[in-house]
Amino acid sequence: MEKDVFCKIVDGEIPCYKLFEDSDVLAFLDIAQVTKGHALVIPKKHYDNFLSTPDKIMHKVFDVAQRIGQIDIQFLGAKGVNILTNCYEIAGQTVNHFHVHVIPRYEKHEGFALEMKAQTNNLNLPVIAQTIKDNL
Ligand code: 5GP
Repeated sequence: MEKDVFCKIVDGEIPCYKLFEDSDVLAFLDIAQVTKGHALVIPKKHYDNFLSTPDKIMHKVFDVAQRIGQIDIQFLGAKGVNILTNCYEIAGQTVNHFHVHVIPRYEKHEGFALEMKAQTNNLNLPVIAQTIKDNL
């Protein structure tokens, strides 16, 4: 199977601006900077996305994402941060290797806008809630 770009970065086949590395996790600047300091945090081992990543590794990835977000505010002058992970193509995932975006925010509507519009159709909330609850 063809290696994805993040596996190639882990293996040193593609260069990156590395921010952090330990035995399980790698963090580096996104090649397409949505805002200044836009970072990606990934597990070194391949997992397709957040949903299929073992919890220990997933927690380590988010620990690093949290620290980078704190640094964005303390040292890059960000006023806020979006922490985001896309799962599957429909949700915007383009690289099939679990990654967390850490996107510092400086101004409103700068490069990145997450628009969440409430649906107007009637949803059966009791049934939806029960389905999720029953399977947790
Ligand atoms: P997704 O859309 O899957 O959530 O995000 C994938 C991200 O990976 C994109 O923001 C894209 O810019 C970034 N990316 C893709 N290829 C490379 C690369 O070769 N190097 C780096 N540093 N980032 C990459």
